[in-house]
Parts: sequence; C-alpha cells; structure tokens
Amino acid sequence: MPTAKAYAAAGATTPLAGTTIPRRDPTDHDVQIEILYCGICHSDLHTARNEWSSIMPTVYPCVPGHEIVGRVTRTGSAVTKFKAGDLAGVGCLVDSDRTCPNCQAGLEQFCPGMVLTYNFPDRNLGGVTYGGYSESIVVDENFVLRIPENLDLAGAAPLLCAGITTYSPLRHWGVASGKKVGVVGLGGLGHMAVKFARALGAHVVVFTTSPGKRDDALRLGAHEVVISRDANEMQKHAGSFDFILDAVSADHDINAYIQLLGRDGNLTLVGAPEKPLPVSAFGLLFARRSLSGSLIGGIAETQEMLDFCSEHNITADVEVIPIQQINEAYERMLRSDVKYRFSIDMASLKGE
Ligand code: NAP
Ligand code: ZN
Repeated sequence: MPTAKAYAAAGATTPLAGTTIPRRDPTDHDVQIEILYCGICHSDLHTARNEWSSIMPTVYPCVPGHEIVGRVTRTGSAVTKFKAGDLAGVGCLVDSDRTCPNCQAGLEQFCPGMVLTYNFPDRNLGGVTYGGYSESIVVDENFVLRIPENLDLAGAAPLLCAGITTYSPLRHWGVASGKKVGVVGLGGLGHMAVKFARALGAHVVVFTTSPGKRDDALRLGAHEVVISRDANEMQKHAGSFDFILDAVSADHDINAYIQLLGRDGNLTLVGAPEKPLPVSAFGLLFARRSLSGSLIGGIAETQEMLDFCSEHNITADVEVIPIQQINEAYERMLRSDVKYRFSIDMASLKGE
C-alpha cells in the first residue's frame, strides 16, 4: 500500500503533528496529485477539534485540508481529462453517487452518497478519507478541477472551498449590478465574498467586529464598512439590503442582520458555528424576509468559479506558512488574525 506524509490531529485536544497515511494506487479513473499548496479553512479547525460532533463526529486520526492545488503525477488508464504535469485542484468533494437528482443537476454537494475530502467513510481503503495536509492525494478525475495557469497557486488553493462557498450563493441569489449586498465576517470566506460581489457589480458593505480591518475591506472591494458592534452604524442600514452573506464561524446575533434586509431580502448562512443560532420570527415576518443556508458548490460550478477567477484575476489574499506552523495558525484564526487565508506550502513537509 502506498503511503504519504501528512499532518494529523490524534484527538480533539491534541495539536496536529506529522504522521504517515495510506493512499491508494490510482485505479482506472483516478488522478494522483502531488500537493503544492493547501489552504486552511475554519472547517478544518471545527473538525480537528470535533466541534461538529452532533452532525459529523470526527474520527481520529484526522487529516484536514480541502483547498488543494497540485500537479498531476500519475493517471489511471481510463482518465481523459488530465495528464501527468497538469495543474489540478481538489475541493471538499471527492465522490458522490452520480445518479441521484442532485448529481444530475450538478449539485453533488447535496447527494446523499457524497464523500467529503476528509473525515468521511473511504469506500476504497476503509476508514475515513484523509485531506490535503499531505504530500499527495488520489481522486477520481470527475472530482478534480482544472486550475487556470494564470493564477498564483498559493492564492488559488483557497478558491477550492472559500471561493466556491461564497461564489455559489452570490450567483444563486442573483447578486449583480444594482443590488446592495452585505458580507458579515471578513475572514477567509468573507474576503472572497467581497471580491466576488464587487466583480459581479454589486454595492458591497462589509460588517466586521475588527475595526483594524476597515482599510483592507475597502481595498478588497467594499464600498462601505460597518463596525458591527456599533448599533448606530448598524441602524443606518436598516431595511436596505437585497442580500447578506453571513460567514461568521462563532456564536453571534443574526437577528441584527435580518432587520437590515429590505422587502424579500435574503440572509444566507455559510458560516457553521458549533451551537444553534436563535432566530426571531418577527424579523422574517416583516418584509417577507428569508433565511437560507448554502453548502460549498457542485463540481461544474466550481470550475465555472475558477474560470471566473482566471478572467477577473481573482485569488485569495494569503499568508503562506510551512506545515510546522499549523497549530499556531489555528490559534491565530480563532483570534480573527488572518489576512485573509493561510495557505500551506506543502514543500515544507518534505523535511519531516
Ligand atoms: P475565518 O477565516 O476564521 O473567518 C471567520 C470570521 O468571522 C472572522 O474573521 C471574523 O471576522 C468573524 N468572527 C469570528 N468570531 C466572531 C464572533 N465571535 N462574533 C462575530 N464575528 C466573528 O473562517 P472561514 O474559514 O472564513 O469560515 C467561516 C465559517 O464558514 C466557519 O464556520 C466554517 O466552518 C464555515 N464554512 C462553511 C462552508 C459551507 O459550505 N457552508 C464552507 C467553508 C467554511 P471579523 O474579524 O471581520 O469580524
Ligand atoms: Zn472549507
């Protein structure tokens, strides 16, 4: 059985550390990828620390990482879309049943048989899937994305989750020129949402708890910045938004944002805090507002997003770190001290 170097959490309170994991030999439809960069998503931290235990309990050892870019090193005999040497990307999905109505609609993320990149039952090797904090990965070609050659690779990695997770709801809810759009939480997801909403032509307002991020928010594309702890500043926007995307990772008051929506306005949650968020019915009843969720995006839409990024020259703003700094990076992410995504240079794993 081939193996790969990786970083894993051995338990919910254990720091991540170097280890070796099994990886399958490519079967006929598989692509083997040498991982060059892997972004650090807050979902990696939620999972490594078993914060979603009631929905998706973590199986240890856990190798997170679902913002993967690399180069193809080998392909199975039936692979047609990739050849050795090609750039390739892998996001949150590595398989699905491919036959259900969701798969047929290109919405593999809602397939009851979907397989996530880590912490999901591995149909090939048994146990659970292992993610991108690793030197290599083997994935069916139908779940591998083409990475446009003009994108910086370290900054392209986060597009595979933070990118598609924000692009998909912005498109679904018709964000375009003439719409007023709010983005709550200027982290990895939030800063991508700002770039996309701006590129789609909307009037963009960022809501942040971090006054020090104001200038960055404007540079990233926001027209206005609201410090969300300031009730007066919030009140000035009451009833005015067409759409708000909430990308906050922790407990917070979503009712304060619902009341900023105009008639038929929608608030979509992409953030996935550990605990349930209370919702006031009245905030929704008045003005026929709606509250939704959105989960990553399908494979075809992920490719569409990458091509949109190529055309508009969009990548994540990244701080590149060696894998050895992963535990410190998690602590900084918890303090909202990331500008605006960590991207792991996987060459750092070679010396382990
Ligand atoms: P992140 O980089 O840590 O950003 C989260 C941001 O939320 C922070 O930068 C901060 O922004 C704000 N925030 C943090 N704690 C807060 C608090 N107590 N009150 C108010 N605001 C707070 O995380 P991320 O990687 O972007 O992920 C965000 C969330 O989305 C996570 O829960 C993650 O699991 C989830 N996620 C969901 C999907 C999906 O498919 N739906 C996909 C990926 C990730 P400010 O400093 O600007 O306030
Ligand atoms: Zn993610």
